[in-house]
Amino acid sequence: MPPIDKNFEDGESTLRLETRLLHEGRNPDEQHGFINPPIVRGSTVLYPTLEAIQKRERYTGFRDKGASYAYGLRGSPTMDALDEVLTNLDGGQGTVLLPSGLAAVTLSLMTAVSSGDHLLMTDSVYQPTRIFCEGTLKRMGVETTYHDPRIGAGISELLRPNTKAVFTESPGSQTFEIQNIDAIAEVAKNHGACVIMDNTWATPLFFRPLDHGVDLALYAGTKYFGGHSDVLSGSITANKEWWMRLRDTHDEIGMALAPDDIFLTLRGIRTMTVRVMEHERQAIELATWLETRPEVSRVLHPALPSHPDHDLFNEQFTGSTGLFSIVLKPMEKQAFSTFMNTLKLFGMGYSWGGFESLAVPFDCRTYRTATTFDAEGPCVRFHAGLEHMDDLKEDIAHAFHQAAKA
Ligand SMILES: *Cc1c(COP(=O)(O)O)cnc(C)c1O
Repeated sequence: MPPIDKNFEDGESTLRLETRLLHEGRNPDEQHGFINPPIVRGSTVLYPTLEAIQKRERYTGFRDKGASYAYGLRGSPTMDALDEVLTNLDGGQGTVLLPSGLAAVTLSLMTAVSSGDHLLMTDSVYQPTRIFCEGTLKRMGVETTYHDPRIGAGISELLRPNTKAVFTESPGSQTFEIQNIDAIAEVAKNHGACVIMDNTWATPLFFRPLDHGVDLALYAGTKYFGGHSDVLSGSITANKEWWMRLRDTHDEIGMALAPDDIFLTLRGIRTMTVRVMEHERQAIELATWLETRPEVSRVLHPALPSHPDHDLFNEQFTGSTGLFSIVLKPMEKQAFSTFMNTLKLFGMGYSWGGFESLAVPFDCRTYRTATTFDAEGPCVRFHAGLEHMDDLKEDIAHAFHQAAKA
């Protein structure tokens, strides 16, 4: 596992990303010497004089720190702390915080498109994103066309005069296709369309979207930022061009991440580097072992040489995390049910990125429209947690054994 040793020169700092993740967004000198910032709860902000309340200027984020908080929804020292960490991690201009990853998805789209616009969306997107496009966005007069995640520069053929946004997610949800973000962003930018990326899987430690031409990078902080399955949170970081529009949309919508949830996200993110590096190691070992199992037809993990997009993955990403999928060989329904129900250490549940291992079945044939995913057998998405690897392998081997007897 190579160290994340790139030097980023965002703002004034030339410190490495791992170091900045620990030292930004807090100032012990202002916190009576305590390491972490306090949780500031509050709605009203009091102004000292009539003159102050009449000429109050608009608060523009952590760079104004301490200058002029105006209202609980619009900024606080607690929000500033996480804003600063996330903005600098991605080398952006500013960050908005939201109460879930899905809220970050929907707000990024509301920032970029208007009634009468056309949106290009990867076919491998997180399914609730698709549901928002087919529901609310459609009702608001926005038309969505889905594209093959592997389309690359070929996306130019799908552009229309009113195409105002291209939404990407790489690797693809469940099936792990890698998108050529540089190629897609170049085409979209020449057309004047906003490029959005859901970068929840890689985190800014392994992929920095804004460096690849993306305008709005969004995250389910619920996953690796929080890292302990105890908080829902979301964020969007914008480049200079899109920051004001993002901030205005966020202000108008009035969604905020609660102070305690900001604290949990901030608490989690301080240890994200060691956690994701361990999830990466665990997932690669588990995936490599699964490839040797006779019950497994294919493993879908972009860091393995067997993955069809492995070279593109190596070009674009500096690492991988804990989530990957497998396609099993054809198996009787009863045997598959026994396999899943016998697993003890792999919980059956959706929201990944915590310390624990998970396994969920999926069948994306039911909703993809631009591409078909031919699965020769049942599909399972795994999250490799931090348990001892031998215990994880033994759990799966035991479940396969029981399934064979079913
Ligand atoms: C989980 C997830 C989301 C949504 O996050 P929530 O906080 O659960 O709403 C969005 N995108 C991706 C890729 C995710 O994995």
